[in-house]
Amino acid sequence: MNPHHAASPKIGVLALQGAFQAHAAVLSMLGAIPVEVRLPDDLDGLDGLILPGGESTTMLRFLELHGFLDRLRDFVHTHPTFGTCAGAILLAHAVQNPPQPSLDAIDITVERNAYGRQLDSCIQTAATTLPGGPLEMVFIRAPRILQVGPAVTVLATRDDHPVLVRQGDVLAATFHPELSSDQRIHRLFLQMVQAHQAAAVRPATGSPASAPRASA
Ligand code: GLN
Repeated sequence: MNPHHAASPKIGVLALQGAFQAHAAVLSMLGAIPVEVRLPDDLDGLDGLILPGGESTTMLRFLELHGFLDRLRDFVHTHPTFGTCAGAILLAHAVQNPPQPSLDAIDITVERNAYGRQLDSCIQTAATTLPGGPLEMVFIRAPRILQVGPAVTVLATRDDHPVLVRQGDVLAATFHPELSSDQRIHRLFLQMVQAHQAAAVRPATGSPASAPRASA
């Protein structure tokens, strides 16, 4: 009935533990179809994935159980993926405090639980390069991004440290955008998903590179 329905992207939300329901609610509000991911096969047919906040060590323990970590690594290296807080830790290139395995989907080094006791959970408003003015950021025992590689774009900072970063199809926030009413970051992610889909269906014929093979 809804003419847009067929085009709605299916976005998985890793639902092993942590703050997955709020992400699903935002996705629904923006016209996407959220799918809770609890088993490796739940990744089949998804157009993108959100790794939510929670405890990254607890999530890792689940993921290491059924070969899920390898399936997840394949998925996040080939599909748009958005990690928030613990999810950003899982996506990082390297993790400190203490070191733990990660998916190496975005070239950042993160330090877990990096803010002192009094600052570890707070709401801040900070500047972002996203259109629409300053962004509310909910930090909950957040990691700090210590290093970003040359391919990473910094979209927002807190006290000079990056807190929202993107590299290609991967987006990572050290805060919880799903807990604020501002939907700009989820919108950005859905635009990334759309762009990925458009690139995947673009016919090879007609592009300059394919012209010599047109007779095939
Ligand atoms: N402190 C958590 C971790 O290290 C992350 C906290 C969060 O996701 N809100 O995994």
